[in-house]
Amino acid sequence: MQRESMEYDVVIVGAGPAGLSAACKIKQLNSELSVCVLEKGSEVGAHILSGAVLEPRALEELFPNWMELGAPLTVKASIDEIYYLNSGSGALKIPSVFAPKTMHNDGNYIVSLGNLCRWLGQQAENLEVEIFPGFSAAELIIENDLVCGVITGDMGVGADGSQKDTYMQGMELRGKYTLFAEGCRGHLGKQLINKFKLDENKTPQHYGLGIKELWKVPAEQHQPGLVVHTAGWPLNESGTGGGGFLYHMEDQQVVVGLIADLSYSNPHVSPFDEFQRYKHHPKIKQHLIKGERVSYGARALVKGGLQALPKMHFPGGLLLGDNAGTLNAAKIKGVHCAMKSGIIAAETVVEAMTEEQSNAALHTLDTRFNASWLFKDLHQQRNFGPALHRWGTFLGSAYAFVDINIFGGKLPWTLKDSIADHQTLKTADLCEKIHYPKPDGTLSFDKLSSVYLSNTSHEEDQPCHLQLNNPDTPIELNLPRYDEPAQRYCPAGVYEVVNKKFQINAANCVHCKTCDIKDPAQNITWVPPEGGGGPNYPNM
Ligand SMILES: Cc1cc2nc3c(=O)[nH]c(=O)nc-3n(C[C@H](O)[C@H](O)[C@H](O)COP(=O)(O)OP(=O)(O)OC[C@H]3O[C@@H](n4cnc5c(N)ncnc54)[C@H](O)[C@@H]3O)c2cc1C
Ligand code: SF4
Repeated sequence: MQRESMEYDVVIVGAGPAGLSAACKIKQLNSELSVCVLEKGSEVGAHILSGAVLEPRALEELFPNWMELGAPLTVKASIDEIYYLNSGSGALKIPSVFAPKTMHNDGNYIVSLGNLCRWLGQQAENLEVEIFPGFSAAELIIENDLVCGVITGDMGVGADGSQKDTYMQGMELRGKYTLFAEGCRGHLGKQLINKFKLDENKTPQHYGLGIKELWKVPAEQHQPGLVVHTAGWPLNESGTGGGGFLYHMEDQQVVVGLIADLSYSNPHVSPFDEFQRYKHHPKIKQHLIKGERVSYGARALVKGGLQALPKMHFPGGLLLGDNAGTLNAAKIKGVHCAMKSGIIAAETVVEAMTEEQSNAALHTLDTRFNASWLFKDLHQQRNFGPALHRWGTFLGSAYAFVDINIFGGKLPWTLKDSIADHQTLKTADLCEKIHYPKPDGTLSFDKLSSVYLSNTSHEEDQPCHLQLNNPDTPIELNLPRYDEPAQRYCPAGVYEVVNKKFQINAANCVHCKTCDIKDPAQNITWVPPEGGGGPNYPNM
């Protein structure tokens, strides 16, 4: 049967800040161009999870009248607190003058990125962009080495691969140009990077896993505008990098989260349990204690910076936002970077369109990117991540202070981190086992009740979207060497070893992509499940 096919000037994969900013900017520059956006979540924002403190710079460029248009930026970041947690109860407040200036949040806003994306989606639709939620881009269309679009996933396929009554074949969406804005570790982005060797001469990409909860707290406990960042405990006990965040938003909402560097080496580490412990620190507990947990979720983030940033153009398309790796790790912010990369991508394809679809014109992306504030920021802060990996949080931060605050990022060297995150695990017998305390059901919780709050749902009768290259690797290699770390790094309890059998509870998956990144044998490939499946985050 011939596949259905639709043609557009530009096809965009992913309705996050990068994809939606690109869509809006293309239509602002040339309203005649036809643009569609595919989103795998059941609605725009359903799969979006971020902190988020937003630097509004790119939003101001895209919609200078964002306030008039009702963008959901209502709480200004007004107080910055930074702590080094030296134990489960001790804390050292870092005076503002000693904090890297990238950690200052004057002029920024505390937002729900999901809600900002919903608003951006509305602006895109007002500009006549067609948005298709509930449709994942499952495959690339590549003809004669030119990317010509994508194919959406089939619907109604049973777990055994048979076609059910509800079967609907995926559709071709063909574009003169295709923009890939799938976020961190996009599964098509990964294929494009390999196919076109976009990461040649780059260091391996680096990642963190962010686990976040949304709480509703009593009015007397609420301090809208307060931004708290922490380093140290509990991650430092296992030598894991990363840190925590806690932001007071509007409507008595507080978000709390922990980002664990996926370069950790102890296979007994469970980022989920580290996060549960984190909330018991007095500096964090005081904000949550009388509150109620409303939502839970997790998402990987990309943090390799400029040294790991692949080439962002290839014949027929561009890679944007976290799918490429534009996040600024020193600021722990990627939203404004993703939006700016979307704006730059839009300017590039609109110009390329006037040159009768010349792929050479896509190369102008480099010139635009190199001339932008995004490049300047990433270049200035290029040594932050590698310094922390090399010297740990305390000394690494001290180095970053000198490099960024004193020398403005102009020191004449670039630190590199050439070990990929999946290569860092030591064998289980060499590492101390970690005995995590039982959750108390008030501040800390178990995985299952947490996943319940992510509202994740998947059609049960469908092929497993967590594909194993070799089904024997988990038991034959990972179990004896690393006590199968997937049981612990997955924040949704998808992977279990029961009676020496590896079990995948795919329905629990919250699409964080950690398994695709951290599996030491690189044996797990995340592919999109049936469209619309996955978490349904309210305002994460
Ligand atoms: C815990 C955490 C805290 C963070 N805190 C902050 C912060 O405080 N400030 C800040 O600025 N940044 C923060 N970030 C980073 C920020 O969230 C990202 O940099 C930003 O969201 C990247 O935008 P994006 O558009 O590239 O990707 P995403 O926001 O990930 O959006 C990608 C979209 O594409 C969709 N998609 C993916 N694959 C497909 C497919 N194949 N087909 C169809 N749709 C697809 C996804 O469902 C999603 O909606 C944080 C991130 C995390 C995880
Ligand atoms: S299965 Fe993989 S992508 Fe899904 S929640 Fe677990 S680690 Fe994340």
